[in-house]
Amino acid sequence: MNALSIPCIPLFIFIVATSLFAPHLRAEVNKVEQVAPGVYFHEGDIGRKGHCNNGWIVFDDYVLVIDGNFPSGAQEVIPKIKTATDKPIRFAFDTHHHGDHAYGNQVWLENGATPVAHAGVLEEMKKYETGHFGGKAGRWEDTAKNRKDVAASKLKPPTLLFNKDLIFDDGRHRVELLHFGVAHTHGDGFAWLPKERILFTGDACVNGPYNFMGDGDSGEWVKTLEAARKLQPKVICPGHGPMGGPEVLVDQRNYFIALRDGVKTWKDAGKSPADVKAAINDLKEKIRKDDKIARYIGGSFNAHVEKVWTELGGEAFPK
Ligand SMILES: [Zn+2]
Repeated sequence: MNALSIPCIPLFIFIVATSLFAPHLRAEVNKVEQVAPGVYFHEGDIGRKGHCNNGWIVFDDYVLVIDGNFPSGAQEVIPKIKTATDKPIRFAFDTHHHGDHAYGNQVWLENGATPVAHAGVLEEMKKYETGHFGGKAGRWEDTAKNRKDVAASKLKPPTLLFNKDLIFDDGRHRVELLHFGVAHTHGDGFAWLPKERILFTGDACVNGPYNFMGDGDSGEWVKTLEAARKLQPKVICPGHGPMGGPEVLVDQRNYFIALRDGVKTWKDAGKSPADVKAAINDLKEKIRKDDKIARYIGGSFNAHVEKVWTELGGEAFPK
């Protein structure tokens, strides 16, 4: 098992520690919040369960759920959806391919819902879920070693795919599933509710120290967040962390810009990987001084720096 294979697990200890000092970040975990009539948000318990956030929209004839979660995350949320409505759950939208957003697909399917995603999610699964596609053990098998819920289920890739957008509209509610390009992964999808100006972002935008950068590209990520910002959302429902206003999207983008600017300065100055590794804390403290983006610093900060450094053509850091 390596750190890249289970994006959320390396954050576990840090997040538990962080929550002791910043209880407001965790205040709404596992609680259903109505964002607008027929629109719900549920902040998952990432600290203890590794769960992602979920959302759901109650249409006249069915329920569309945002994010597949882990199997145990789906099992946590399904009774809560059924308490809120008796409409059948018909679609579960994976915002991307990671386990905490897509491994619950089989559970959704058993509850009547078809997994939906951007076509890039299936491509990413073909790349990383080699066990499912007839090759050597991949991420699912790695994760199953440490998660009973995954071991007891099976990978179900999304079967309803879109390239640019997919629209659900019954006249009362409209949800547009959109893809703006590479960000957290190569298949990130957003769910946009133009009437209420609510944006569900998956992990392309999180609210707290939850960024995993290993499967994405930080330069493209900044552009994708700018495209999302142009929708002018009023409410951001992130992939992890509490719901917020449009500032969450701005802060997430500014964190990556600050990170990239810092690393680029070192690259332009001709620093060696060892020099950069030694200087990481300076950049961390500089970013920490900016109140608006300090909350994005977490246990993965060194990995964030190294990812940007290698994207800019630098060699991996010495061990
Ligand atoms: Zn993710």
